[in-house]
Amino acid sequence: MRIKVLTLFPEAYDGLKVGILERALSAGKFSLELYQIRDYSTDKHKKVDDAPFGGGAGMLMTPQPIFDAVQAADPEHKCRRIYLSPRGATLTQSKVVSLAKEQDLLFLCGSYEGVDQRVIDLLIDEELSIGDYVLTSGDLPCMVTVNAISRYLDGVLGSEESTAEESFASGLLEYPQYTRPQEFMGLRVPEVLVGGNHAQVAKWRHDKQVEITKALRPDLLKKEE
Ligand code: SAM
Repeated sequence: MRIKVLTLFPEAYDGLKVGILERALSAGKFSLELYQIRDYSTDKHKKVDDAPFGGGAGMLMTPQPIFDAVQAADPEHKCRRIYLSPRGATLTQSKVVSLAKEQDLLFLCGSYEGVDQRVIDLLIDEELSIGDYVLTSGDLPCMVTVNAISRYLDGVLGSEESTAEESFASGLLEYPQYTRPQEFMGLRVPEVLVGGNHAQVAKWRHDKQVEITKALRPDLLKKEE
């Protein structure tokens, strides 16, 4: 997969390139190209924002630098173009899985009060939000989305790390997990997990998933019905 990101803060993406993702990028499991939108501004001071018509607080990103950056990054519109935006559909695990099937993705990260609507009308395929709250730029949402997608790409997770049994994969939250020691601060690991009976372990885990989902996220169970 090739991922292109248009941003005013390319340096922020150093924070994405750690651990599993650093290894995956170095091994070429996917690529990440960063485009500094400001570089494409034709303004002599490299200005990328202006006041909104009709008034209102804050500044908006002007269309020209974004338009030229998109033309440079994706001249033939091969990418699925996504604008990170609080008003987009909220990112879910099933959306992550479907985006992971794309070959080419382009993410546009807004700043200030967002972008001129004509950018969205002319260039963007969909708007995507990471939740009902407002951040200062689209960079954290973009990194969240890229991180989540990358875990579904071939060869990114080792065999010991799997997406199959995680929270949301089955529509349920994950069961409780334990490692050594068998007793810690007076709390013992449930006997069933150390008994070696795989069928009983599987049943215990499923029952716990249902119990925890009911307690913490009953809305997920409603979606399953
Ligand atoms: N005026 C905008 C509004 O009310 O919807 C908020 C703009 S926000 C301060 C600046 C940029 O951050 C947006 O253009 C968007 O790219 C990004 N952003 C902020 N919150 C986001 C969220 N929850 N999901 C995705 N992107 C977000």
